[in-house]
Amino acid sequence: MNLILLGPPGAGKGTQAKLLEQKLNMLQLSTGDMLRAAKDKGSEIGKKIKLIMAEGNLVTDEIVIELISENIDKSSKCAGFIFDGFPRTLYQADALSELMSSKKQSIDLVIEMRVDDSQLIERIVGRYSCKECGEVYHKVNRPEQKKGVCDNCKSINGFIFREDDTEEALRTRLFNYYRETSSLIGYYYAKKKLTMVDGLLPIQTIHDLIYQATKNNL
Ligand code: ADP
Ligand code: ZN
Repeated sequence: MNLILLGPPGAGKGTQAKLLEQKLNMLQLSTGDMLRAAKDKGSEIGKKIKLIMAEGNLVTDEIVIELISENIDKSSKCAGFIFDGFPRTLYQADALSELMSSKKQSIDLVIEMRVDDSQLIERIVGRYSCKECGEVYHKVNRPEQKKGVCDNCKSINGFIFREDDTEEALRTRLFNYYRETSSLIGYYYAKKKLTMVDGLLPIQTIHDLIYQATKNNL
């Protein structure tokens, strides 16, 4: 079974993808993570990607489709894929559907994670993560228990902010979400794939709801 996590930046897609991976032996495919890895390589294309992402704009469909397709080919041994941050445009959604058919697979479920815009800004501005293990913190909602020490891996090597987690870049990301991505909600509703969950519920409750939706889908 393959599923898509759909929702605005800050909705909690990455967090839920990680929990599902652990529970269902599925594999998270995050185009955001893939692009961040590509941009760190410092190649010409990496430099272009870095600029686009820092502003909060979308990378071209060709690049992300290529990344997804490579990663699908590399990973055959999981119980299914969790697409996180992909597709983000109608073109990407059509391409994914073709890619799945060519592998005799399909998208079985799309989870829309719904969160108020005002909450999104609050969640993202102030977010930072551990350099070593990637554990995510927030200045107000979830600071580390002992200043400068990661709760999870105990590293003291410090924390990093994402370059696109500024208020200005986030407004652009939101704008692009409404301009390019939100119509995918109707697209998958019409295909009878859509389930909506309230992204303001506690993390574990959301996880349980998504897990239930995957079971109902089998
Ligand atoms: P978020 O969903 O919180 O904005 P992501 O890590 O998913 O964060 O994405 C970060 C950035 O990576 C996006 O703002 C965009 O520049 C780029 N990106 C990620 N996925 C895609 C995609 N499917 N199509 C185009 N650009 C993408
Ligand atoms: Zn850590």
